[in-house]
Amino acid sequence: MVADLACQPGAAMGLRASGYTGRMRFGYYERLSAAQKRIYRKSDEIGAIGLPPDVSAGTDVARMRAALAAADRAGVQAACQRIVDALARGYHVPPLRVRVLAQRPSDDYGELHGLYEPAEGRAVARVTVWMRTAKKAQVVAFKSFLRTLVHELAHHLDYELYLLPETFHTEGFYKRESSLANALLAAETSAATPPSDGGS
Ligand SMILES: [Zn+2]
Repeated sequence: MVADLACQPGAAMGLRASGYTGRMRFGYYERLSAAQKRIYRKSDEIGAIGLPPDVSAGTDVARMRAALAAADRAGVQAACQRIVDALARGYHVPPLRVRVLAQRPSDDYGELHGLYEPAEGRAVARVTVWMRTAKKAQVVAFKSFLRTLVHELAHHLDYELYLLPETFHTEGFYKRESSLANALLAAETSAATPPSDGGS
């Protein structure tokens, strides 16, 4: 069984060292079943990932930044979908739908940043990200918005690329998230820089 994943960064997840390996594990590790612990450790061992070869998402990252600055929800969603389509093709994983909604829901535990719903029971997996904060309805900062999108995509990759039966927030998971977010930011920078023609 796979469950929908509601992702609230920083929600009560203290890291602690796990004795003999020196790796850091989140506190909930101890509450997992033996089978889940094996999946957790596998997830933790997969580290950083880069962009797939031949994926040039830089222009769409720049479009996403501009649309977010203009609070253009449809434009943000279109740019996110193109980025995610290119990455899914590049990694050879099933496609996923991106839905960008306005204001984040919140509960006693905090604001929901993103949601990943696996393909079970629907045609394709779905990612939902919110572009405004719950409290003040301000547009979310570009980098944290991009990071949330990549975070939800990383859940998809856990299932579809690494074929893990469950997807956990592990230190390795967060390495994948930050390496991929950084690779997209670097692609945006190089897309904005015209190639040098040798100085004419
Ligand atoms: Zn998550």
